[in-house]
Parts: sequence; structure tokens; C-alpha cells
Amino acid sequence: MWQTIGQERAVAVLSRALSEGRASHAYLFAGPPQVGKATAAIEFAQSLNCCGEDPPCHRCKQCHLIEEGKHPDVELISIGGLCEESGADHRDHSTDGSKEIRICQVRRLKRIASRAPFEGRYRVAIIDPADALNAESSNALLKTLEEPVPSLVLILVTSREEALLPTVRSRCRLVPFNTMPSAAIAKALAETWEVPPDDASLLARLSGGRLGWAVTAWVDETFLPARETVLEDAYRLTAAGRDERFAYANQLALRFSRDRENVFGVLELWQEWWRDVLLVAAGRPETVVNAGNLDRLALMGGKYTVEDIVSFLAALRKTRAYLLDNVNAQLALEVLLLQLPASRKERQLPDAASPAAVRSRD
Ligand SMILES: [Zn+2]
Ligand SMILES: [Zn+2]
Repeated sequence: MWQTIGQERAVAVLSRALSEGRASHAYLFAGPPQVGKATAAIEFAQSLNCCGEDPPCHRCKQCHLIEEGKHPDVELISIGGLCEESGADHRDHSTDGSKEIRICQVRRLKRIASRAPFEGRYRVAIIDPADALNAESSNALLKTLEEPVPSLVLILVTSREEALLPTVRSRCRLVPFNTMPSAAIAKALAETWEVPPDDASLLARLSGGRLGWAVTAWVDETFLPARETVLEDAYRLTAAGRDERFAYANQLALRFSRDRENVFGVLELWQEWWRDVLLVAAGRPETVVNAGNLDRLALMGGKYTVEDIVSFLAALRKTRAYLLDNVNAQLALEVLLLQLPASRKERQLPDAASPAAVRSRD
């Protein structure tokens, strides 16, 4: 039984090929990141070698060895890794900061591929991410694709199909993978990972249809609490005075000097939060991401004009661009914090956009 979730079409193609005894010699698993391509590649390798019923049975010796990454006939070729070229420093690329799959790794694959399977029925080589093959290694792989070995199945995995050489692509059987509807993700999280309903639906909405992303976020116990803290800050700071805003900007700037990605993550979350505020202000609360915080969103949505929210969202985007451009981070963040909109009440000005203000002008 396949355990890959939400990729029924891909699974159908693969299991049909197996049951009809006509596996292609090369497959291209293509689709968005974190939707189950790597899981399906392992399960396909298991199916090809499984000796139980309803392959992959997940119970036989073959299935177990493959699951544990210990099967002698199943090879994962990724960035970094073994290559067998001469010279002691040239045997393992996992430590040399490699960003590509090198030709020596493909040469190693070719040597291995020419041997008969040792333990199972098929040798399976999973190349993931296949878009990391450079021009040299792609061309080396092409020869293997052109002269198929009957007991060898290649699985190329990519979320950037367009980055592969057309000649490589055309020699593989394409198996497309897709994002899942968010309701299906919430269901899978609840049923398979026992995620409580509120968390499951939040993660599902955040996942962009990628179950793998949602599961990773759930397994990382710091993810949801850290997110909650950032949203808490975003809410608190709208009512904060100058000093508190400056202190927060300083703290973010300090963090930025050590961990840029973290601060970009915070800004992204703010963007998402303020987009939700905008949706509430525009009378569409049913479409917000942070449905668990609807009370707060409603409070904020009632406090600001749509124009204010839109202009703060623009300020957020601008700040992100400045930071990417390596401007003075502290200054950029201070300016951003000062641009947090003041509520209508705080400003004590008539709201030009409100129907009352328009009427009073008549
Ligand atoms: Zn099995
Ligand atoms: Zn090498």
C-alpha cells in the first residue's frame, strides 16, 4: 500500500507500470517542492523490489532496507556525496560545500549501474534534486539514459523541471506531482499526524498546498510558538510608543546581523498578518490565513483605514527590498516601525474614506 498522500495520479501511473510489468528505465518526478516526490521515489524503489503483497508492503526485508537507506541496490545521488575518483580529498563531496551534482558522482553511478542487482530485482538510482546536475554531469547522465540497462531504474526528482536539459527531460517518463487542496492537507495532518484541528487548519492554510511543508512545520516544535510570538509583537507594537518601537527595531537589527533569514521571516509574517487585517477591514474575514486570531484581526481591522493598511504593506515590501540591498538595517527597520499606522482614534482626524466624512462634505 502506497503511503504517499494526495498524489493519486502519480501513484496510479507508477503502480500500473508495476502491475503490467513494464517499468520505464527512467522517470522524472516533477512538481512543486515538498509535495511528496521524494517519498514517492522511495516507495517506487520499494515497489520495484518488494517481495510482499500489495507493494510497497512496508514489511518485507527489501522494503525495510530501502526505508532505512541501507539497500545495496538503491542509491541516492544528491548534492555532495561519494564519488570514488582518485585522491583522498575527492571521495566525499558532502564536506566541500558542493552546490551541484558533479560528473564524478554520475560516473560512479554508471559504474554501479552496469552491475547486476545484488539484493533485489532492480537497481534504483534516485537523483534528487535533478536540477542540480551541471552541464557536464547532465551530458554524462545522457549516455546512461540512451543505453538503458534492463535492471536499472533511474528516478530524477525536481521542482524546477525547466532547469533540466531538454535532452535529459525527453528521455524520462514524466510523472507530474501537484499541490493539494488545503482541506485535504488539514485532513491528512489530523488523521496521520494527529495534529489538533485548529493547528491543522492553520498549517494547511499556510502550506500553499504542500503537505511536506506542513508536516515539517508541525514536527518542528518551535515553529508555531515562534510564529505566535511574532504575531503577538505585530499586534502589541501598533499600540506602542516611540521608545518601544525603536527598541524593537534595534532588537531586529541586531538579529539581522546574525541571522538575516530570521528577520526576513518576521517581515513576511507581518506582511501576512497585515494582509489579514486588510481582508477584515475590507469585509472579507472568511478568507484570512490567521483565522485563530480573528478577534484581534477584527479589532485592528476596525481601527485603521484601508489606505493606511495598504500603505503599511507597501512599507513592509520596501523595507524588505532595502534589506536585500544591504542598506543600514537599523535605519531601515526604525523607519518601518515608525510607519506603523496610527489608529483613527489616536489621530483624532476625520476619516476621509468613511461614508460619514464623504456625506459631511456634501
Ligand atoms: Zn515489501
Ligand atoms: Zn568527485
